[in-house]
This record gives sequence, structure tokens and C-alpha cells, in this order.
Amino acid sequence: MKGFVWHKDGTASMEEIDMPRIIEDTDAVVKVKMSSICTSDLHIIHGFVPKAKPETVLGHEFVGEIVELGKSVTNFKVGDRVAVNVETFCGECFFCRKGFVNNCVNGGWKLGCSENGCQSEYVRVPFANNGMTKLLENVSYEDALFVGDVLSSGYWGAELCEIKKGDVIAVIGSGPVGYCAMMSAKVLGASKVIAIDIDNYRLGIAQNQGIADVVLNPSECDLLTEIHKYTEGRGVDAVIEAAGGEETFQIAWQIARPNAIVAVVAMYESPQILPLPDMYDKNLIFKTGGVDANHCDELVRLISENKISTNFMITHKFPFEKISDAYEVFGNRKDGCIKVALTY
Ligand SMILES: [Zn+2]
Ligand SMILES: [Zn+2]
Repeated sequence: MKGFVWHKDGTASMEEIDMPRIIEDTDAVVKVKMSSICTSDLHIIHGFVPKAKPETVLGHEFVGEIVELGKSVTNFKVGDRVAVNVETFCGECFFCRKGFVNNCVNGGWKLGCSENGCQSEYVRVPFANNGMTKLLENVSYEDALFVGDVLSSGYWGAELCEIKKGDVIAVIGSGPVGYCAMMSAKVLGASKVIAIDIDNYRLGIAQNQGIADVVLNPSECDLLTEIHKYTEGRGVDAVIEAAGGEETFQIAWQIARPNAIVAVVAMYESPQILPLPDMYDKNLIFKTGGVDANHCDELVRLISENKISTNFMITHKFPFEKISDAYEVFGNRKDGCIKVALTY
């Protein structure tokens, strides 16, 4: 079968690879029905993910059909339609029991990083009882494509904000994770969502989809003045920083009101500076790091009930064989690309 493999020299190519098989009793093999490309795949190819292993099949965002189950995978049956979690987790270690599945001592981000991922025809899913979520009948593969990764990340960012009913939430970065954070913030009780980005096309999507109440482009306005207009001069109740730039990191704490939560869910390519003397009396709470993708059941339910829909993010579709073209379009944001769906 075919798999899209990355190499140490910063390239990736379609290769003939072995069919995955059950190795542990806790494994499943899933036939990929739809997969996507994530910014993290680009980070891997460009060498920014130290734990990524060269010559591994890329991809960690997908949905598919179970074709084989290890003996101890009892929550599913062959033929089930599932969304697969970006994280591999055992469910039993110290961190898993606390819900910090990203820090599982027996797992973490493996698929498409240190083990063969979903940009292939079949994938072995370790700890499959935990890593798969059954799709409800009225949820299509396309509806659920982002459940295990960007939607989980956006929801997690919103959850970190401990949103109270009526809060005003700012989301920096009007891209896939940002959109998911905006929708999740609303579901969790935000009264107003403010989207911030320097890309008017991407802001326009947030506005047209009705997932942001206010859109602000800091290169076209005085951001603090605008934010204060919507928050009685205080600053926002919480910020989700999903952009990952030097400037956006600074914006994140500046637009927060005193005692706000700043949830930093972006993946940075370099260290950032926390100017502590300038923020001394703001009493901020910073939360950082990689997604704990532990609400996939809830997310599938929200999609089924039409409370969240991520379908608008699929701006481009490519057959899996044309994955190099898909990378070209997604990686360079060509032709207004937000996310690509690879079809099989
Ligand atoms: Zn990802
Ligand atoms: Zn664990």
C-alpha cells in the first residue's frame, strides 16, 4: 500500500510501505476514509519537532473504518466508523487518570510523528479502546474529520479559559484551530467572541460563518482601543492564542483584563519573552502546551446536534494520490486554502 513518508532532508514523498498489522492486543487497524494535513506535518518536515522520526508516514488527523481489532479492544467492532485521536494514551498511567492524556507516559503524540500515521491507506492505532471515537449515525466522515486534532485543540483552548456565562473571549489566529476555539467558546458560554488576525480573508470567514461576533485586524486598527470598546475598558475575560507568532504572544497578555486566563495553544518555532515587569499588576494566569484531546465523544455529540460544524474549513479536496499537490496548496495557503481533505 502507499504512504506519504517524510525524510530527514526536509522532503516527503509517496512510498510503497507494508500493510500495518495488529502487534499488541490493544491495537486496531483502521482503513483511512478521509484524512487531512495539519500545520504540525509541516513543522515535522521542516525539522521543528525533535521527537519526530524520519522515514515515518505523516498525518494524524483522520476518520476511517475499523478492519481489524486486537483481542482486548472490546469497545468497538470491525466495520465501525470512527474518528481517531491525535494522541495515543494508555488510560491507566498517572497522567491519563488525571485526564492529561497528552502526557501519557506510554503514549503521547505518536501517529504521524514517531509511528506511521494516516497519510496512507491503512493505519495501526495503538491503545485503540482509548484512541478511537465511534461516529453517531448522522455524523459523516467529512463532519468528523477534525474531531481528533484541530477541533480537539480548539475545544481544549476554550476549556482552559474556564469560561463563565457572559464572558468576552478573544481568539488570536483566525485559522483552523482558531475557528474551532471560537465555536467551542460559544458552546461553553461566551457571550462575545472577538477574532483577531492580520488576514482579512480569514477574518471574513469567521464573520460570515457567524462564529465570531467581532473581527479585528491589528494592522488596520488600534487593537487595545477596539478591545476596550467591547469590554467597558477592562480587556477580555480570557484569551486563546492560536497564532504562534512573536507579536501575537505579546498581544495575548496585553488585551487580557486583570486576572484573566491566557491560554497559549499555538506551537511556536522559537522562545517567547514574558515581560514580567510590564504585566506585574495584571495578575494573569498563563496556561500552555499541547492539547489533551479527551473530549472526542462530546465533540461528536455536538456535531451530531449541529452545535458545532467544521465542514466550512474544508476549502479543498484532493484524492490521496495527489497528496503532494495538497501539501503545496495547504503549505502555501494557495487559493484561500484553510484545510484540505484527502479522499480515498
Ligand atoms: Zn495536528
Ligand atoms: Zn497513560
